[in-house]
Parts: sequence; C-alpha cells; structure tokens
Amino acid sequence: MNDAFGREITYLRLSVTDRCNLRCRYCMPEGGVEKRQHQEIASFEELEEMVQACVACGIRKVRVTGGEPLVRLGVVDFCRRIRRISGVEELCITTNGLLLAKYARDLKAAGVDRLNISLDTLCSGKYDSITRGGSLQQALDGLQAARDAGFRHTKLNTVLIGGFNDDEIPSLVELTRDEAISLRFIELMPIGECAGWDKSHFLPSQTVLERVPDLKPVGSDGVSFIYQIPGYQGTVGLISPISQHFCPSCNRIRITADGKLKPCLHSPSEIPLRGLHGAALQAAVAAAIRGKPMRHQLEGGNASGSLRNMNAIGG
Ligand code: SAM
Ligand code: SF4
Repeated sequence: MNDAFGREITYLRLSVTDRCNLRCRYCMPEGGVEKRQHQEIASFEELEEMVQACVACGIRKVRVTGGEPLVRLGVVDFCRRIRRISGVEELCITTNGLLLAKYARDLKAAGVDRLNISLDTLCSGKYDSITRGGSLQQALDGLQAARDAGFRHTKLNTVLIGGFNDDEIPSLVELTRDEAISLRFIELMPIGECAGWDKSHFLPSQTVLERVPDLKPVGSDGVSFIYQIPGYQGTVGLISPISQHFCPSCNRIRITADGKLKPCLHSPSEIPLRGLHGAALQAAVAAAIRGKPMRHQLEGGNASGSLRNMNAIGG
C-alpha cells in the first residue's frame, strides 16, 4: 500500500534480536545490551504473525536483521517459515558474517535468497578494534561459506568512517575486481553510540569517488548510486542517507525485536504491535504506513530522532 506521500511500501526490515556477538563502536555500547527478560522479546510466532499482517498491507521483501540475527536460536527455522508466507517474494539477511561458517548452508536450504555481510576493514587489527574483539578471519570465512553454500549477489556493507577506514577505500574497491560482488559504502549516521562523535568521522560518500576516480556510474537502485571500474566484475554502491537522502524513494518499514513498528529509522515514533491479532494487527500496520514521516532531518549535523541504538533497530 502507499503511504500519505504516495510512496509504495514494500520492504520490511525485521529485527529478531538486539543482542550481538560484536560490539562495533558506532553501534553497540561496550558492555553490550542489558539482558532482557525472555518475555520482552517477541516470540518467532508473534513476529511471523506481524510479517503476515505486513504482507497483507503490501510488503513483498523481508530482511532479517538485528543485533546479530544469527545469534538468536531457531533463526534458520524462522527464516524457512517466513519464506513460505505467500506474498513474500524475497528474504534477505544482514549479518556480520561471523556465524555463517556454521549456518550458511542451512540458511540457503531454508530459502534465504540473499545475504548482506558487514565488513568495515580488511585489516585484522582494525577489525578487532572497531568491533571490540572480533576476528576478521572469521568474517572472511563466513563470506567464503556463503559462496560455498551457493549464495550469489552477496552485498558487502562498509560504513565509511573518517580517520578509520577512508585510507582503505581503494583496497576495498579492489574486492570487486574478480568477483561479481556488490560493495556498498554507507555514510555513518549520527545515531545512538556515535551521535556525539567528532564531525571528522562523518564523511560524504563522494569521498569514495575522489579516492578512486576510475569508478564510473552505471545506475541506481533507489537507495544507492552504483559505480564500477570498467572491466571489473563487481560494483560499488554509495548509500548516502545524509549527503543525498533517499527519503522520497524510501519504501521500507521496520519492526524491532520487541515488536514495535518504526515507520522511519530516524523518527522516535514506534507503534506497539504485540498483543494485536488478525484485523486489529493489520489495521495497526496500515495506520503506521499511512503515518510514515516524509523525511528525516539529519542534514546540518542534526542527530537522529530515534530513541534507540542501531543494534536495537537493525540498520
Ligand atoms: N549485525 C548485523 C550486521 O552488522 O550486519 C546486522 C545489524 S547492523 C545494526 C546493520 C547494519 O547497520 C550494519 O551494516 C552496520 O554497519 C550498520 N550500522 C550500524 N550503525 C550504523 C550507523 N551509525 N550508521 C550507518 N550504519 C550503521
Ligand atoms: Fe553487532 Fe552489527 Fe551492531 Fe556490529 S553493527 S555491533 S555486528 S549489530
């Protein structure tokens, strides 16, 4: 269905947990999240019912995210059930990749169509530092496991952080030389943990084009502008939520692991869905879509209006 500004809402980002096996400095507090009572998190049955209501309102693509979605027990079976919902045309997962060596084959068998893997650096010392203790090799093994399991068109997401990984832009782009991979640079957004970071860490995605002038435009998918070095197999996407916000073409809503529908990533508005069923649940989803804000207000150094850290939303 369309929102009040005529945007057709077809994409649901569904967070299944706010917990994670990493502590990325821009996303998670160092001590992790307060362990929630079991009953504070929506059960897979509840989440499935919410997805069904969203599909009845026009959602066709679902992305399972987190926290780290693969740390929640039973996630593979949950994916199988979501993929079987009539009307779900595409099921994707966004993951840090650490558990893919264990789960990639099962996720493929469960019907997951595509993976996005987050990778901010190719230097193991820097990976350890930004994730506070993660292993780059484990993430790369996860990427390999995804290939071996038959996942194609995997996207690699790199958050561009001034003074941290801008020196690696050329070497990251080189990953697209021999493999049909989509590398995407995402502008760091001032939300949660990094909301108060120094401005020097927030780089416009155009920085990528300045550092790699051989990149040529080849298209756009509504969220990213896509570039390629002629002759390379893969592509490089620039996702610019701040410097060139894509609100006019935003087609997404989000549901958090505690069952709140967020019509906009950067708005404080959250609609509780738990406890609603059938027509009442569908009506709440429809009302939330109609009430989706026109745009966020991140330009000019404004912090996000969201009340949550990214790990509690899902990106
Ligand atoms: N744990 C999974 C992962 O890291 O891919 C899924 C959840 S994570 C919150 C989803 C995406 O949000 C990741 O690609 C992460 O890098 C990105 N992210 C987190 N905080 C961000 C921020 N402040 N600005 C831009 N992207 C951010
Ligand atoms: Fe975990 Fe993903 Fe956040 Fe890193 S970005 S702390 S991997 S949820």
